[in-house]
Amino acid sequence: MLLPGRILITLCLMSLVCSTAFSAEQVKSIRVWKAPEYTRIVFDLTGAIDHQVFMLNKPERLVLDLSNTVTPKSLSKLDFSGSPVSGIRHARRSKTDVRFVLDLKEAVKPKSFLLKPNDHYGNRLVVDVYPLSKQGQQSESIQSAKTVVANGKRNVIISIDAGHGGEDPGAIGPGRLMEKNVVLSIARELKREIDAMKGYRAELTRSGDYYVSLRGRTRLARKQKADLFVSIHADAFHKKSARGASVWALSERGATSEMGRWLAQKENDADLIGGVGNVSLGDKSDVLKEVLLDLSMTSSLKSSLDVGSLVLSEMGQVARLHKKHVEQAGFVVLKSPDIPSILVETGFISNPTEAKNLGSHNYRKKIAKRLAHGIKRYFQDKPPVGTYLAWVKAGRPTAPKVVPTRVHRVESASSTPKVASSVSSSKSVTKYKVQHGDSLSRVARKFSVTVNDLKEINGLKSSIIHVGQTLKVPAKRS
Ligand SMILES: [Zn+2]
Repeated sequence: MLLPGRILITLCLMSLVCSTAFSAEQVKSIRVWKAPEYTRIVFDLTGAIDHQVFMLNKPERLVLDLSNTVTPKSLSKLDFSGSPVSGIRHARRSKTDVRFVLDLKEAVKPKSFLLKPNDHYGNRLVVDVYPLSKQGQQSESIQSAKTVVANGKRNVIISIDAGHGGEDPGAIGPGRLMEKNVVLSIARELKREIDAMKGYRAELTRSGDYYVSLRGRTRLARKQKADLFVSIHADAFHKKSARGASVWALSERGATSEMGRWLAQKENDADLIGGVGNVSLGDKSDVLKEVLLDLSMTSSLKSSLDVGSLVLSEMGQVARLHKKHVEQAGFVVLKSPDIPSILVETGFISNPTEAKNLGSHNYRKKIAKRLAHGIKRYFQDKPPVGTYLAWVKAGRPTAPKVVPTRVHRVESASSTPKVASSVSSSKSVTKYKVQHGDSLSRVARKFSVTVNDLKEINGLKSSIIHVGQTLKVPAKRS
């Protein structure tokens, strides 16, 4: 907006007068987010400030000195229940500085940093408070989760990642429907579905309204010993007409389409929103990790594409699809080198119709059911070694000497389909001539089989196929 010259000069003069008197930033509000491992306190500011943080003991207190800052007469009451903080108070330290004191129930380790404005918030001072007594507790609870077994065999572990959270609302739709809330609800539904399936167990990367860094999410999945990582999101686009659900796997070369690049950019910004990208985590081996990551990525990526295409076809039963194939982009959460990982965009929260769907409990439930079904189809076919599912697929083998004849007969009957499928596959094989525009994954989808099935039966070492090539296609899977 252009201001007429005279007003502009007046404004400049006024601001000059003001800044000479006291050029202070203001604390507009304070917000609290409670995560399992820390409590985040966010000071919303009118501008960037200098600050100092230090601890005092007897009793334990955390002191924050904010330079050149003023506070409003009253600040809204904060709920610190379930956190190591028992209260907050503030007082003017000098003409220009203000001091906040957090009264603590126990000793803590604070981390603080400033965040620049984004789409949702202005300048912020973030103070994360880590209780010293809780360190190590999280990994213990995960330890017990991963050792859960069925019939002496381990469960397949699915790590479900509800995108965004806390300070990062994700996409915002009509009626201030927030992506962070929609996806947490779908994640919880999906966990219920998966936990109800024999031989599976689901873990969440976040179970409430708080932020977990992108790398933190993949680290958590690794701690959970996940066999699959499923990140759940809901898109937004500046055009309201954009719609459709999609499934994404990692691409090493960045996004496969303009939309993909845009999305990848948008999602990766979350690290900055959450603040982790701005501070040192004391993790200096990222470059090395990156290299190792690339090396073992290939096999995980292949599995991701396979499970992704099954999940996508299931999603197609209840949702309109944005594209008919698994898309690929450089999402940070998909970068686990050792865990097949997919990102599911459940729909466009910016599209009024889809926002209405995503806002409904019934629809979220339907989506969760389809996701669970797609995951089940994949692991039934490719159960990880040592799992209950692998044991079932192998025909539930038992120690030879204790198998009574009667039981043995039943067992060999149940194992028949598996043995027969490799022997009699020639009976149920159809032939398909590769058309222009086909890819192996496209053919796999056409016949509801996996890329792996096609590779195996055709003895293919890579996924490259040629127009006119005849492919054997195994019997369609039920
Ligand atoms: Zn998202």
